[in-house]
Amino acid sequence: MIDSPSLVVRNIGALVTGEMRDGDALGVVDDAVLVASGSLLTYAGSSARARFSPMSADVVDIDARGATVIPGFVDAHTHLTWLGDRGGEYAARAEGVTYEEIARRGGGIRSTVRATAAGSVEQIARAAAARARRMQEHGTTTVEVKSGYGLELSAELRQLDAAIAIGDDEELPDVIATYLPLHAPAEGDREALLTEVCERGVREASTRARFCDVFCEEGAYTVDECRRVLVAARAAGLEPKLHAEQRTRSGGAQLAAALRATSADHLEHATDDDLRGLAVARVTGVILPGAALVLGGPPPPGGRILDAGATVAVATDCNPGTCYSESMPLMISLAVAGCGLTPAQALLAATSGGAAALGLRDRGVLRAGLRCDAVILHSRSWLDVAYHLGANPAATVIRAGLVVAGGDPVVEDGEAAPSRPSG
Ligand SMILES: [Zn+2]
Repeated sequence: MIDSPSLVVRNIGALVTGEMRDGDALGVVDDAVLVASGSLLTYAGSSARARFSPMSADVVDIDARGATVIPGFVDAHTHLTWLGDRGGEYAARAEGVTYEEIARRGGGIRSTVRATAAGSVEQIARAAAARARRMQEHGTTTVEVKSGYGLELSAELRQLDAAIAIGDDEELPDVIATYLPLHAPAEGDREALLTEVCERGVREASTRARFCDVFCEEGAYTVDECRRVLVAARAAGLEPKLHAEQRTRSGGAQLAAALRATSADHLEHATDDDLRGLAVARVTGVILPGAALVLGGPPPPGGRILDAGATVAVATDCNPGTCYSESMPLMISLAVAGCGLTPAQALLAATSGGAAALGLRDRGVLRAGLRCDAVILHSRSWLDVAYHLGANPAATVIRAGLVVAGGDPVVEDGEAAPSRPSG
């Protein structure tokens, strides 16, 4: 018997629970129903076994019309809170202008820092809210948001406050905020920056953010500098994350393992030994295939992370320089096309993998007792999320038991694709 449902999704053709079931990693249940009471699921499974208490008139009752339902996407790596526009720089790069020349002209990450650091919390939040809404329309129900364009502490804190304002808006995705004090290369007194971050920054950020992230890279910050900041951050209550091995192999993955960081992100230049180290230390490897596509270079090691025995997540890296995209479905397609993941592995990397990369145990799979964050697709097949390149597969988005995007699902009837992976 299910008590007082507030939302019911009936007539689900295939429910992707995201939990291993009879050898199927996606845990697909055919002919299923979802029931939520408030923000939590009270039932997610076969309609034959579902029992409803009498429903009051104010229950949201959705007929999925045979469509597939998947967990909401958890986008575990974004730089959403920026001001300014770098479209011109994007075009210049396509014409062969180098990063160094763009930087000499005052472009690159420095131009984003100038524009963002000059903005108020309200201005930054307004710009980020538009991006967060597009993310949600594409099925994202939780998004991690980093600072990193402020540099100076008060500007970093305004970015974090803007991220929190997005998360407080009931109509926008849940936000997990991350303090990213080491991002753009330091100008001026490096030691003074590190001292301020370790002595004041991590303390003030700890009331706003859950994580502290650093950019460990040649030309950015060294392993020693990153370790110093992350150790201070953990003492202040912030869990560590790292941008690691993106453009060169600089030791960030080994540092992530040594610190037992929650995640190590990018990893294009990580060795198999590095990835095994992440597996042993239970560090989630986050791949960012959009940024890798824009920048060129080796593909992100999605399949290799799984082969090493670690958990893999896929995220947008939504940012104004290397990946201006809010679309998790596009990242899933790119993870299959270029990162060695199967469609099922990529879908899990975008849901339960994303939750693991943020240390969240209450979402990423559809199970009674967890959050009701779910996406009703336009399609009868979950495969279309990866297969239908560049499309938005989300018909209806449900976050914390409330419909937050889309309307009634309209299933596009074509030839019915199989709802389970074969072989
Ligand atoms: Zn990043």
